[in-house]
Amino acid sequence: MYDLHIHTKFSKDSLSEPHKIIEIAKKKGLSGVAITDHNSMQGYISAREAARKLDIDLIPGEEIMTNRGEILAYLISEEVKPHRSPEETIEEIREQGGISAIAHPFRGKSIRLGSIVRLVDFIEVTNGRSSRQENEKALKLATEYGKKGIGGSDAHTLREVGQVITVGGLRPERIIARECPYRYLFIIYSSIVKLIRL
Ligand SMILES: [Zn+2]
Repeated sequence: MYDLHIHTKFSKDSLSEPHKIIEIAKKKGLSGVAITDHNSMQGYISAREAARKLDIDLIPGEEIMTNRGEILAYLISEEVKPHRSPEETIEEIREQGGISAIAHPFRGKSIRLGSIVRLVDFIEVTNGRSSRQENEKALKLATEYGKKGIGGSDAHTLREVGQVITVGGLRPERIIARECPYRYLFIIYSSIVKLIRL
């Protein structure tokens, strides 16, 4: 049981301490997590010790901003630079021996999907911060292209960790999503605190 999309304080829009995320994952009975900070692997690096101690399988990750939407990278060894084309970004992930996924393909300014879908390994079909309609469209897209779906909470707060679980992790079998009725309040809260700190 894995949560494959989690942000830490190394993302501009989150306050979560990396070791706390690991503690919560353990408490919630997860076997592993992927830390996927925006354009950074610092959160992953900071969480490693806690993951080792608590025996949580910590997957190195990053959520990379491209010039056409966001790409999730897993099992990369180095940070992938943002603001390039999705094609170049996916290529670099592959060169590093990593795994790529389109993050929340239908949220907001969505990626112009087209050929990119064919290039990635997975589509994020359940994102804890996307609407039901956005997730349904993503699932349809994955089915159409014969791509496997993965899911993650997209946690920006500690409470969201484990809200969406991919059974099997990067060998996805099925996805379990739990509703968090207060999630929008937490989203607003962490944005305000960050603004005040800046
Ligand atoms: Zn995210």
